[in-house]
Amino acid sequence: MASVADNLARVSARIRDAAVRSGREARDVRLVLVTKTIEPERVREAVAAGQRDLGENKVQEGRGKAEALAGDAVRWTMIGHLQSNKVKDVLRFAEEVQSLDRLSLTATLDKRLQHLGRGLDVLVQVNTSDEASKYGLHPDEVAAFLKELAAFNSLRPRGFMTLARFTPNIAEVRRCFRVLRDIRDRAMDDAPQGEALRHLSMGMSGDYEIAIEEGATIVRVGQAVFGPRPLPDSHYWPGAAGVG
Ligand SMILES: *Cc1c(COP(=O)(O)O)cnc(C)c1O
Repeated sequence: MASVADNLARVSARIRDAAVRSGREARDVRLVLVTKTIEPERVREAVAAGQRDLGENKVQEGRGKAEALAGDAVRWTMIGHLQSNKVKDVLRFAEEVQSLDRLSLTATLDKRLQHLGRGLDVLVQVNTSDEASKYGLHPDEVAAFLKELAAFNSLRPRGFMTLARFTPNIAEVRRCFRVLRDIRDRAMDDAPQGEALRHLSMGMSGDYEIAIEEGATIVRVGQAVFGPRPLPDSHYWPGAAGVG
């Protein structure tokens, strides 16, 4: 098996190529390396190869890994469904939450952040595949949500996140990404946060190049760097039938 550093270099090259294909530069696309199920020692190989931006799907695992890598210059992002009772724990390690999907969570995060005297970058998660099993706001709910979000001073909304439908049908995957891009474009014109909402977090190991072609500014990639995960994806997203 190729080393973590080799895989990281290959993924980075593909990100760069896809960015150039879509009229942008490599630095316009940020790679969040997803480290779920990966032991800290292997994560450290990626850090040694220059990767700083790490993402976890579950709070407890993220917190443990952040403690194991304390001292390394890394930045943690929460990308998985977040329960309100885990807010205190997530804020111990994450500098960004990409899975903001409801007002009650927003209020709980803001309250805790006010107490801590700090801010948090957030992305609004949208369900673009119309699967009942997926988390995220329905596209029609986004505009109203952004208006409410403007009242919470400690949150810095930066854009949107989605998971495309799990399907080999590339046209359908692209459709999901375009739904998110259209939401972003409209929000930049109409929402109170305006231009700040320019980020699109979309694309994983199987579809990150397509996502970049459709405008992704952030991709979340795990298996393409660390190899296949033993646990099925249904462990991470209810309804995902072990694809990937
Ligand atoms: C696991 C995960 C990813 C990365 O998936 P890979 O198949 O490992 O690239 C991206 N986004 C979320 C929300 C995840 O949980």
